[in-house]
Amino acid sequence: MEPRNEDYIKARIRTVPDWPQPGVQFRDITPLLQDPKTFRVLVDTFVHRYMDQKLDVVAGVDARGFILGAVVAYELNLGFVPIRKKGKLPFATVAEEYELEYGSATVEIHCDACHAGDRVLLIDDLVATGGTMIAAAKLLTRIGATVVEAAAIVDLPELGGSKLVIEQGIPLYTICDFA
Ligand code: AMP
Repeated sequence: MEPRNEDYIKARIRTVPDWPQPGVQFRDITPLLQDPKTFRVLVDTFVHRYMDQKLDVVAGVDARGFILGAVVAYELNLGFVPIRKKGKLPFATVAEEYELEYGSATVEIHCDACHAGDRVLLIDDLVATGGTMIAAAKLLTRIGATVVEAAAIVDLPELGGSKLVIEQGIPLYTICDFA
């Protein structure tokens, strides 16, 4: 029997212990990208989920969300919008600051990145504390778009982020989790 896409994808994520700092189990998705069959299974998993959703735009979060989001947008025949770390976008931006374990971070979007009422799919690689996904969704809402769903490859449920995202009223889809 063929393994389910979820199992096939999860089995190919590499865990790097103690990176970028002691105690962190880094879930490295680069093996999913470098093998053509795996990359296709990954992208197709998202494309099949969203192909009948009447979306207008795909937004991806800096930086691994760009890789995934752009390809999914292309396959769905949609445009792509980058949500970037502070100071990287050249035109007028809207910004959201959010808390990290130590300190804070800011994400930005171009103020004209979406039209009012646009139905957006928001993509990143992973949900940990949920801070990044929630800040990205707030940016999209502030420029008038509707986040139809936030999507990621990996959920780390023990960090509570996916629960927080859903509590904020943002529908969330993740392909697999590491508990
Ligand atoms: P958070 O805002 O805490 O949900 O963190 C999510 C963002 O940080 C994503 O863009 C991930 O790429 C990255 N990230 C956080 N924790 C990990 C981890 N354990 N492994 C891989 N990426 C992570």
